[in-house]
Formats: sequence, structure tokens, C-alpha cells
Amino acid sequence: MSIPEDFVQELKSRTDIADVISDYVTLKRSGRTLMGVCPFHNDRSPSFSVSRENGFFYCFGCGAGGDVITFLRKIENLDYMEALRKLASRAGMTIPENKGYDQGLMSIKSRIYEANKEAGRFYFKQLYSPDGKNALEYLKKRQISETMIRKFGLGYSPNNRFALVNHLKSKGFSDNELITANLANQSRNGYPFDRFSDRVMFPIFDLSGRVIAFGGRIMSDIKPKYLNTSDTPVFNKSRNLFGLNTAKNHANGTLILVEGYMDVISLHQAGFENAVATLGTALTNEQAMMIKRYCEDVVICYDSDEAGQKATQRAIGILRSTGLNIRILTVPDGKDPDEFMKSHGDKGVSLFRRLLEKSGNDIEYRLNKMREGLDLENNDQRVQYLTNAAELISELDNPVTQDVYLTKLSNELDVQKSALKSIADKAAGKRMKKKRIEMQRQVEIDFSAVKDTLNKEKHLNLRAANAEEALIALMILNPDTAKKIAEEFPTDKFVTTFNRNIYTILCERIKNDKGITMSDISGDFSLDEIGRIAKMLISHQREDDPYSAAKIYTDILYEESERMTPEQIASADNDSIMEQLRKMKMKKQ
Ligand SMILES: [Zn+2]
Repeated sequence: MSIPEDFVQELKSRTDIADVISDYVTLKRSGRTLMGVCPFHNDRSPSFSVSRENGFFYCFGCGAGGDVITFLRKIENLDYMEALRKLASRAGMTIPENKGYDQGLMSIKSRIYEANKEAGRFYFKQLYSPDGKNALEYLKKRQISETMIRKFGLGYSPNNRFALVNHLKSKGFSDNELITANLANQSRNGYPFDRFSDRVMFPIFDLSGRVIAFGGRIMSDIKPKYLNTSDTPVFNKSRNLFGLNTAKNHANGTLILVEGYMDVISLHQAGFENAVATLGTALTNEQAMMIKRYCEDVVICYDSDEAGQKATQRAIGILRSTGLNIRILTVPDGKDPDEFMKSHGDKGVSLFRRLLEKSGNDIEYRLNKMREGLDLENNDQRVQYLTNAAELISELDNPVTQDVYLTKLSNELDVQKSALKSIADKAAGKRMKKKRIEMQRQVEIDFSAVKDTLNKEKHLNLRAANAEEALIALMILNPDTAKKIAEEFPTDKFVTTFNRNIYTILCERIKNDKGITMSDISGDFSLDEIGRIAKMLISHQREDDPYSAAKIYTDILYEESERMTPEQIASADNDSIMEQLRKMKMKKQ
């Protein structure tokens, strides 16, 4: 990928990493860096640091790190070029187009976006054609208004296996593009035919409002009712939510999570424009993290049938670990939100609003579930319930909330609060102990570096690997000194392959007069590798006399590369790795 270097330089100089990240993460100053709650893992305490001065971020919790481009790639799920484009438009710059740089994946993706957009238009048009009569009637019968049809861009896929294929081909799309976009399936003879036929179509939009996929609903009771686009280069069903592109603007701190497309649409129609749904699958961690970006409170409003209740329990677990406040809205009489709204006519809106206001948090919900089927007059069952309940309450972070629930429980079932409190404390203590043991184990693993999947050779020579990392960090932080090092220090004195590769790329860039700051090099490495380089930077400060410091590291490397050649490292098998580890541990003791 070669975008003119001077363009990237200019873009970089116009971009403040902290500014960009602030759109997603609330940052607070802490010494020389800015800290916030990490958007990439279930972070409870701020572990996410941003160095404005050096133009990179690093999370002490999950190890994510890199420059501003890496950040955008990760958080918006973009490729390098897309992230660059986004930054450019933010900075009011245009990327010089068609200068012969890599068009591969980029052009496939942009063709798919184009094809999806055209398909969406086509389906919409069909809805109002004679062919679409039944579909339009179906939507009317389900009381979907004209405004909603337009807002969600609903449509109809005709009952003809080649309707869309022929249309898109006439617009210049190739067989391969239609199949890659999953708008068409491939027949045994190799020709494409429409994936969706005789269905009401629901376009799925990404956060930038581009059509990335479709859901198609059959109008009869044949199952499965819905057919969705499979994953494509622009669509991943576990990383998107239906309705989020508009709901995010109406969240106001709260999102409502429902099960189906129809639920989303009828809630939006009723004025609850903060409703979103998963795309025909159970809620994923990625979706939970997306939800967290737009609100602090989430209301789960799944169907009240058994499957819906199971899904609710599962969603609670996933959402709770992100630190979101969770409320549960149970629609009465076994209905889903869409049916509820319809069956109450004009009163639907006010009744739903009342349910929303009344919806309890997930602890209440789980206490009720726990209580189901128990006879609380029976002493054994009563003790069982109280014990489980106290243990559940002990999971609450906030001691005041804990106290509220323990008091409530003690009043309801007429037991001493102190007794409940001691059960809760014991459970919390047990959990703490378990956590401490886990953390200790993790530290040991980190120490032996066995778990280092990126630099697999690090544990073979920690002293060398640490010197290598320090040297790389020093170079990136001190470009002037980096030039001298690159001239003087031979690549083959690096002991570990992973770090040697980084060093080689840095030297190459220096030789060609290219920059080596984080944003200069982020296109040369994978997201994982960039994360690791950020980790090197965060653990090393700028030196007053970088050249002397570099000398210390290179001396270590001259020494260590004598002791252990790259060949020796490469031929080290697992047994000898274990042997080394054993020796290292003995030395420690
Ligand atoms: Zn993190």
C-alpha cells in the first residue's frame, strides 16, 4: 500500500490523536498521559492511556495499542485505507485517488457497498410495483407506516430467481461481485441467481449509514421466517446491530435491546427511537461493547416465551461484564414488543412507556427467577433461596445498592439483615480469593513469557528481548538517534525473529528517508504487531541522552547474540524450551 508519504505526513500533522479518541472514550489527564476506560475490553477501571505527545494509545488491560489509524481501524472495523479516508475527511483533506496504489480489497469492498446500495433501491422500488402488492399489504397489515417504510428503506424481493441479478448486471456489476456480496447464490453450473426471492426486505446499515446486508422475511408461516446475508467482506453479523445507525442519535443514555427487526421498527414508530436488535443471532461481546459506546443503561426487552427468557439470561451475563446498567422489561401475556404495541392500539405507546418506567434492574429480575417454583414457607427452600439471593447481591459493585437489596430481602422474608450480610461477605471473599489466585497465575505466565504468542522466542532470552524492545522504542521516540543506530547496528545481532523483523522494517524506512513514528509505520504491521510496538513505547520514556542509552542496549545485544545465535533459537525445540524455563524458575528461587 503506497499512499504518498507527504500526504500521510500532512494528515498526521493535522490530526490530534486525543481529539479523535475523545469521540469514543472520555479521557482524563493523569500526569503526562491521558487515561480512560478501554473500549476494546470489559474495562472497569481506566486502563486505557493516550500519549498526545507521541501519537499513540495503549491499554494496560488488554494490550491493544497503536497510532490513531490503528485506533480507528479497530473501533470502526475499517481497513487501513478506510481509516485513512475517515481521518482525511475529518481533517478536511482528500486522499489523492488512483495513483496506482493497492486497489485490491478496497475496490472489492467499495463495489459491494455500491451493489448493496443499488439492491436496496431496487427492492424499495419493487415494493411499490404490481409485483410488490402482497408485500406492501403485508406491511400495512402489520401497521407499519409509510414513514417507517421509508426510514428503514424496506423493500420487496420479487418471486423471480433472476430479478435482482439481471438488474445489477445491467448496472455493470459482475457475477463475482454479486456472489461476493451474497446478493446472489451460485448455481451448480456456476451462474448467479437471487439469494432473496418473494420476501419483505430489511436493509441493514452500518454506523455510517451504508447498506451492508439484508434480512428477508417470508410472508407465510414457513420456517425459518428470516433469511439474512451471510458474512461478506463488508458485513459481520456479530459486529453490527439492526437500527443502531439511527438509534445512536436518540440514545440519550439508554438503548432498548429487542429480538427482531419488526420489534425495532414498531418501537421506532411508537417514538422509542432508541431500539436496536441483534441480527438473527444471540448477543455477542462485540455487540455489547458497541452498545456501551452509546449508552450507560440498556433495557433488555426480549420475547416473554421460554427461548426469549433464556436469551435474556445470556444477554444479562454479557452486558453485565461491560459495566452497563441493565434493566429488564417483560412484556405481559407472552407477547413480543411488536405484538404488544399492535394489540393495544392507541394506548400501546403509553402502556409501553409505563412498562419501561417500571422495568426493574437485572438483580430484581434474577431474584424473581431464583424464587420461581420455590415454596418459601418450607424452611429448607427458604434457606436455599436466601443463601443464593445473598450471594447474588454480593456481586453488586456498589455497597449502597447491596445494602438496599439486603434490607429489602430481610424485610420481605423476615430474617436478620446481619445474617444475610455475612453470607454475602463470605461469597465476596471467596470470589476475591479466586480472583487473586487467577491473577497470580497470570503474572507467572507473563513472567515466563510462555504465553507470548507474537514473539514466541522471547522466553528463550528475556534479557536480549527486553534490550531489543527498549532499542526499538528508543528509535521510534528519537528519530535522529534512530538514523545513527540503523547505520551502526547490524540486523543480525537481534536475537528474536519478531523484534528483528520490526528492526529491519525500521532500518529499511530510514534508508528510504521515510518516517518511523507510530503513524508512519502502522501500515507496515498487523493490528497485533502495532499493539505490541505500542506496548514497547509505553514502557520506555524519552531519554535525555538517547544515543548513550542505545549503546547500553546494543552492548547487551552484542553480548547475547554471541551467547545464542538466531540459528540456535530457531532450532530450539519444545523440550529445550521447557528446560530453559525450568532453569529460569530455579534461578528465581
Ligand atoms: Zn483494553
